[in-house]
Amino acid sequence: MTKKIVVLGGGFAGVESAIKLRSYGHEVTLISDREYLFVYPVSIWIPTRQKTFEQVQISLMELQKKHGFELIVDRAIQINAQNKVVHLSKTEVSYDYLMIALGMHKLKAKGSEHTHSICGQPEEALTIRNELDKIVEKGEGKIAIGFGGNPLDPTATAVRGGPAFELLFNFSHYLKKKGLRDKVELTFFAPMKEPGKRMGEKPYKKMDVFFRHYKINKRIGTPIQEFEEKAVVFNDGSRLESDLTIFIAAGTGHKVITDSGLPVNEAGFLKINELCRVQHHNNIYAIGDIVELGGPVWAAKQGHIAEVMADVASYNLHNEISGIGKRKSYWEKLHIVCLMDSGDGGAFIMRNHKKDFILPLPVLGHWMKKAWGFYYKNTKLKRIPRIPGM
Ligand SMILES: Cc1cc2nc3c(=O)[nH]c(=O)nc-3n(C[C@H](O)[C@H](O)[C@H](O)COP(=O)(O)OP(=O)(O)OC[C@H]3O[C@@H](n4cnc5c(N)ncnc54)[C@H](O)[C@@H]3O)c2cc1C
Repeated sequence: MTKKIVVLGGGFAGVESAIKLRSYGHEVTLISDREYLFVYPVSIWIPTRQKTFEQVQISLMELQKKHGFELIVDRAIQINAQNKVVHLSKTEVSYDYLMIALGMHKLKAKGSEHTHSICGQPEEALTIRNELDKIVEKGEGKIAIGFGGNPLDPTATAVRGGPAFELLFNFSHYLKKKGLRDKVELTFFAPMKEPGKRMGEKPYKKMDVFFRHYKINKRIGTPIQEFEEKAVVFNDGSRLESDLTIFIAAGTGHKVITDSGLPVNEAGFLKINELCRVQHHNNIYAIGDIVELGGPVWAAKQGHIAEVMADVASYNLHNEISGIGKRKSYWEKLHIVCLMDSGDGGAFIMRNHKKDFILPLPVLGHWMKKAWGFYYKNTKLKRIPRIPGM
């Protein structure tokens, strides 16, 4: 009998698993509260006007037409695992198997209403663009960009630092082109003593070269007390004056999960095993930013890891339904790969079980990331042939 598979979330993880499960020949329903997949890695160019908001989206309806899954655009409110039902804002949907890929929520810092994040709701990228426009129009100002941690997440996988570095370098390049680089102060702030160390020892050390090259000040190692309209206030009473504060708060568990009583760690991330199956729930899988990452301590939540997990979970779910014994583990596939963009170049960063390195790519790095954005969008919109023998 055909099994009903419901995928929750239309981001990197959800879309990849819906496509994979369709290629195995299963009936799939994808539920998302947005009509589009937001390609976060290239959204860093919205504030500097290298991309429009629309160019950073992939329509879920287009994806549905290509891959043939059912699409429901609605907000999930709660999962009733006992009755195998997902409650949405307008209706409810039953399932035999559930793939959860809802991403993560963000912690709220005191005074966070005075900050903007490039990692929150997609529309926030537009607000940052408008605020940057105001500084450019004025011809001077102070910009502070930073990120924070989640004290309940000792492995620090909830920290998202890469986009902060990319924004700093891109803003610096953009302001230089406008002839304003010496008129606008750019400062990076973070409460950790060694922010960015997760990338590996060598990439971390090299970051100072980038900071000097792009003339970026640093305020690190002191916990943040609160944000004011025009300042970041630190625990030791010191202040960082700022006309535009961009703060990427650390991630925390998704409310739907905490409201559904599914097993989570202290920080609120779903507990899964190496097959991506949710603890104590044989018919529920979870992938992407929403989970507690297992494997090596340096593992990081990234878009391509969300896709690796989608691939592993879809394979395992398919084999489970088809009575095939083989299973894959996502742990052994964990690694960090990052093309860090600076607007006029970039760097390729890699970390795996054996080594870590950073390869500066002046000019080329920027075009490689642009090419990746093009590749990602176009491959998703290509129909994937049915996997032979399925
Ligand atoms: C600015 C930025 C730059 C980044 N750059 C890189 C990079 O260069 N390389 C890299 O590998 N990674 C990068 N990342 C990380 C990467 O984007 C994430 O790891 C990835 O998006 C995680 O995918 P996901 O599907 O788990 O979550 P998301 O992409 O967040 O998708 C979650 C989906 O669930 C939907 N959803 C949420 N709540 C509900 C609900 N209640 N009901 C229904 N639907 C809901 C959302 O609309 C969304 O479609 C970047 C992230 C940001 C923010």
